[in-house]
Amino acid sequence: MEERKSFASQLKDVGRRMTPQRKLILSILDETGDHLDADEVFRRARKLNSNLNIATVYRTLGLLKEMDLIEQRYFARDHGVEYYESVNKGEHYHFTCLGCRKIIEVETPKIRQVQDEFSALTGAKFTHACVCFEGYCSNCVNKEENLTL
Ligand SMILES: [Zn+2]
Ligand SMILES: [Zn+2]
Repeated sequence: MEERKSFASQLKDVGRRMTPQRKLILSILDETGDHLDADEVFRRARKLNSNLNIATVYRTLGLLKEMDLIEQRYFARDHGVEYYESVNKGEHYHFTCLGCRKIIEVETPKIRQVQDEFSALTGAKFTHACVCFEGYCSNCVNKEENLTL
């Protein structure tokens, strides 16, 4: 029989694995609500705990990701750079402005609906959806239009 952990014991697990430095890094991502790369997490964490080094930050980010407490993101504007954000923000997608490089979060139940329909149709089970939107934000659209006038 497959052993399935109860939600409470999962929480306890996470609690036990919550060292002060993991808590610190998680709280930085929770509070900012922004997408930070490892260097930026390190810069902020260092202000609060000067004993931290960048290797610890990398290792901790990896662990928090494994524990499903943070998400790793890639954005079209800078290839290969990994960003992190808290999972507490819920499901959303990202629009990258090609003009000012700003990231705008797109909240929509529609991607989930597509997955549900596809699952119902094929029996496939989704573990992850990666949807990447690119274009020009409202500010940059106006600038583009002014330039071409
Ligand atoms: Zn823009
Ligand atoms: Zn986001």
